Amino acid sequence: MSASLTDTRSTQLYARALELMPGGVNSPVRAMRAIGRDPIFIARGEGAELVDVDGNRFIDYVCSWGPLIHGHAQPQVIAAIEQAAELGTSFGAATAGEVELAAAVVARMESVEMLRMTSSGTEASMTAIRLARAATGREQVLKFAGAYHGHVDGLLAQAGSGLATQALPASPGVPQSAAAGTVLVPWNDADALREASERHELAAILAEPLPANMGLVPPREGYLELLREQADATGALLVLDEVISGFRVARGGAQERSGVRADLTILGKVIGGGLPAAALGGRGELMRMLAPAGEVYQAGTLSGNPLAVAAGLATLELLDEAAYARLSATTERLAEGLRDAAGDYPVRVVSLPGLLTVFFAAEEPVDFADAQACDLHAYAQWCRELLSRGVYPPPSQFEAWFPSLAHSHEHIDRTVEAAAAAFAAVREGGPEGHA
Ligand SMILES: *Cc1c(COP(=O)(O)O)cnc(C)c1O
Repeated sequence: MSASLTDTRSTQLYARALELMPGGVNSPVRAMRAIGRDPIFIARGEGAELVDVDGNRFIDYVCSWGPLIHGHAQPQVIAAIEQAAELGTSFGAATAGEVELAAAVVARMESVEMLRMTSSGTEASMTAIRLARAATGREQVLKFAGAYHGHVDGLLAQAGSGLATQALPASPGVPQSAAAGTVLVPWNDADALREASERHELAAILAEPLPANMGLVPPREGYLELLREQADATGALLVLDEVISGFRVARGGAQERSGVRADLTILGKVIGGGLPAAALGGRGELMRMLAPAGEVYQAGTLSGNPLAVAAGLATLELLDEAAYARLSATTERLAEGLRDAAGDYPVRVVSLPGLLTVFFAAEEPVDFADAQACDLHAYAQWCRELLSRGVYPPPSQFEAWFPSLAHSHEHIDRTVEAAAAAFAAVREGGPEGHA
């Protein structure tokens, strides 16, 4: 951590937060330790911009880590939340909105016939695995190194996101028995996948179809098809975690782009429009195994919460074809601009509609090991330089940037200008300020 010399509202809050909350935060990457600085305390969001408690303004590329595809405080989303709140915030009973949201998801995702909502992606992952185990009568689950599926005990081995940011291979406190249920395979490695899926009795092959929690590392040509083939050949279910890609890379998510359909799909982030919501969806005969239709237990006090459902519905309704075309163009302009800004500095900008990663590496990573080999020191300095120029990037190499529909050409162009200056500073900077 860098000691701040100035006594700002942020530094005061951080000092108090450290006494009250582990690391001063409620989720690790927010602490910004990986880029060698203190966390920023946010006062409000306006479209594509964040304002911190000291009045500093940033163009935001985290956007709450993906949910805010329309940017901050989008008026129609806020109105939907206000209207819902006036009718009561939670009933713990069935509502019309849940039916409407389930129908909206089923209309968008071809492989999803039924839906069970949860409050977080972590819960949806947990439920997916329990259901896959019940459906197959098997216990082991294959996951890929660098993929993140929430902080489920058995899925923390070689997980991306915050674990990668802090260079943790897994977490203390995970019982041997939970870890033993997980088979780890390097992403994009066809032989390792074939070998592992044939050797183990797998309940599920679990994957982010467009992995974004080690930075964005798309599948090689044919790799998603291979997941489907191996699942079919070995009797495992294919569980695709579209918490990030769902409703973002296309109306029907990564499955629409690739044509590879999952048995079960994990959804989150965009589906809650910035409020806590996630879901598990899939084929009817599998989903009907969940209680009370079936015997696989799953429940949640705030599942299908009316405010979250209203925010999710408003968010999805605003995502028409024109919106996806615009998000794609915005992302492309940003990716191209960042490549230009880098010049001959050795970075690779990997992008898909609605997300991108600037890898500090000469070659595009194809797996977690490649991502971990990036120049994290230079990335950290570059991020600090961006922040000092009013651009808020993900404060970790192992995350994606999330441009939103609120990002204008002017935002992108200002970002590219700041990025060029930040690259120049990194070029000259050497080991300056490294924490
Ligand atoms: C964010 C994320 C999760 C976990 O969702 P939470 O709501 O944070 O529990 C799961 N899978 C992927 C791919 C994610 O990006």
